[in-house]
Amino acid sequence: MSERILIIEDEENIARVLQLELEFEGYVTGVAYTGTDGLIQYREQEWDLILLDLMLPGLNGLDVLRRIRATEAETPVILLTAKNEVADKVAGLDLGANDYVTKPFEIEELLARIRANLRFVRKPVEQADPHFHQFAGLSIHEQTREVKRDEVMIELTPREFDLLLHLLKHPNQVLTREQLLDAVWGYDYFGDTNVVDVYIRYVRKKIDNGDPQSLIQTVRGVGYVLKEPNHET
Ligand code: CA
Repeated sequence: MSERILIIEDEENIARVLQLELEFEGYVTGVAYTGTDGLIQYREQEWDLILLDLMLPGLNGLDVLRRIRATEAETPVILLTAKNEVADKVAGLDLGANDYVTKPFEIEELLARIRANLRFVRKPVEQADPHFHQFAGLSIHEQTREVKRDEVMIELTPREFDLLLHLLKHPNQVLTREQLLDAVWGYDYFGDTNVVDVYIRYVRKKIDNGDPQSLIQTVRGVGYVLKEPNHET
């Protein structure tokens, strides 16, 4: 599928050359000649990357960038800057631009930057499995419901699984009994919060392998935290 690049550039001849070159490379492009139109096109369509000129009439490039980054940080933005715009270039990078090229630029250089930035974004999405969670030798797959500690399979009941999954999604974060109750048993559960303690004991027995220091540590008077045991103390 073709990647989509939005060009926001007020110099029409530069915008036109960019559009031709990018389309020749197989990208789908959109062109906006003002910052305002750029933002409108950005919001109305899906883009994989944005080429953003800094000196634009009306809403300038930094204004546009600020508004984009106020809503999301994923779409790579490459700034098109002039030699005398060093301060703006730095401000742009501080605002979350991913890269820049200085005009006049070689098209080959820009194409290389575009490829690098598109690759950079795509990679983690392809590699990371959002359903897989691991911590300190413990791993859970949300969909296959496989639980392992140091590569050894562990059998959990559905409730135990949900409890451990919630802890694994919030490692090193102290969770109160009420939070665990809401997340695992649901807001409509009106039983005793002691049920959390009971199930924590069940899960510990299964995952800790006889280690007296559990991965699920008790925070007295508060709740529980999934934390690497400190064997030195
Ligand atoms: Ca300009």
